[in-house]
Amino acid sequence: MEELKFDVVIVGGGPAGLSCGITLAKAGIRALLIERGRFCGAKNLFGGVVYTKSVKELVPEFPNVEPSPVERPVTEEGYYIVSSEGLVKLLHRKKDPHEAFTATRARFDSFLAEYALKLGLEIAPKTKVLDLLKEGQRIKGVIVDRPRAFGDPRPTEIPANIVVIAEGVNRVLTEKAGLIGRPFGAEDVALAVKEIIQLPKGALEARLGLAEGQGLAVEIIGDITACLPGTGFIYTNRNHLSFGLGLFLSNLRESAFKPYELLERAKNHPHLRELFKDGEILEYGAHLIPEWGLEGLPRLYGDGVLVVGDSAGLVNPLFREGTNLAIYSGIMAGKTIIEAFEKGDFSSRTLKAYEAQLRESFIYQDLITLKKLKKHLFTNIHLFKTYPELLYDTISLFFSAQGRPKREVMREIFELIRKKRGFLGIVGDLIKVGRALW
Ligand SMILES: Cc1cc2nc3c(=O)[nH]c(=O)nc-3n(C[C@H](O)[C@H](O)[C@H](O)COP(=O)(O)OP(=O)(O)OC[C@H]3O[C@@H](n4cnc5c(N)ncnc54)[C@H](O)[C@@H]3O)c2cc1C
Repeated sequence: MEELKFDVVIVGGGPAGLSCGITLAKAGIRALLIERGRFCGAKNLFGGVVYTKSVKELVPEFPNVEPSPVERPVTEEGYYIVSSEGLVKLLHRKKDPHEAFTATRARFDSFLAEYALKLGLEIAPKTKVLDLLKEGQRIKGVIVDRPRAFGDPRPTEIPANIVVIAEGVNRVLTEKAGLIGRPFGAEDVALAVKEIIQLPKGALEARLGLAEGQGLAVEIIGDITACLPGTGFIYTNRNHLSFGLGLFLSNLRESAFKPYELLERAKNHPHLRELFKDGEILEYGAHLIPEWGLEGLPRLYGDGVLVVGDSAGLVNPLFREGTNLAIYSGIMAGKTIIEAFEKGDFSSRTLKAYEAQLRESFIYQDLITLKKLKKHLFTNIHLFKTYPELLYDTISLFFSAQGRPKREVMREIFELIRKKRGFLGIVGDLIKVGRALW
């Protein structure tokens, strides 16, 4: 039992917890990371794209590491805008082909865990934190589901000076720590469903126009979600692709669709069907994405406790950023803890520096922008229905050779725009989005 006293206990072995652990291990602080999965990444699911700049903060030699924890570089990125009838592709070849990589969490998280272990972080997999040890409001450690000793089935208590909550979106312990103002509702989270699909040999490259060593990351908007607010995605892995949808739980609940029905419907879109032909589903999974933003942000520190990553809701769904924000927040929490050990003070007086650091970072700035955008974008049904249809119809007209004067075609296009959204409607939408971004 004597050995079970740690400087820091980290709950959760996702990117946030592991980044905090790596930062602490580099500083020689004795930390234990507790992960309920069989190994770090075993229980996790994401799209997913990881961003080199953030990973390099932890592992400077990334991506030049063996064995590689990533699938393909993202060399091409953009949007597919789909209407019920067609598809418009808005893609760009990235300037820096090594800025982002596709990955699976099983390999990526366990790579970070291996790296952390070598630095001296202790990791306890297959262990669930059931509760927090408290003395008044002060957090003093955790209680895990392992029996104390042979013949003593009571759960084990692990004392620590500081507990870092990196438990992901469900934030059970964050609530137990008394850091949450209100529980999240169905309108605060998106439900993402995803399949990993194995295509016949060579099909991935041939169907998506990729050479070896090239990769694609595409967000899909419009009829793919039956015009409900949300997006789809296609990310190419080494030998398979990830395909999925993310929609607000509240919209899903009100719709007639079950998530897997929507996914099937999406795969059968007339302009995507060919991509999945003869594909074999290797994996199917679902996960929540925290989208409560600033409104649902918990207090990020207390006496002896810090909250990082998805537990805090640090996700930018518009730009599909989450792992990088989790990594930066884990590092910031780690640096604050190092300061706390230097001062010998683990109270909120010292730990509040973490929230201050976060508020000064781009993460907080982006949460402010998102709050404004959420109102105009995520709930604007025109974005998911009217604009994709309009875009496809106008582009189809523009590029058609119909044996009639182009001036007539242009007039038809203007009439279409006027009827479907109206110029004032479009200008109004642009002003709202522009104001939110400025
Ligand atoms: C479908 C989908 C697609 C996404 N795509 C992208 C993308 O392309 N790019 C991107 O950057 N981000 C993406 N994200 C977001 C990104 O995955 C998250 O923001 C990021 O993983 C958050 O990291 P985290 O460490 O905070 O939480 P998690 O990754 O959720 O890790 C939490 C960990 O805590 C463990 N845990 C929970 N409770 C306990 C407990 N009581 N005891 C012990 N262990 C516990 C869990 O098992 C888990 O390992 C996506 C998310 C989803 C769902």
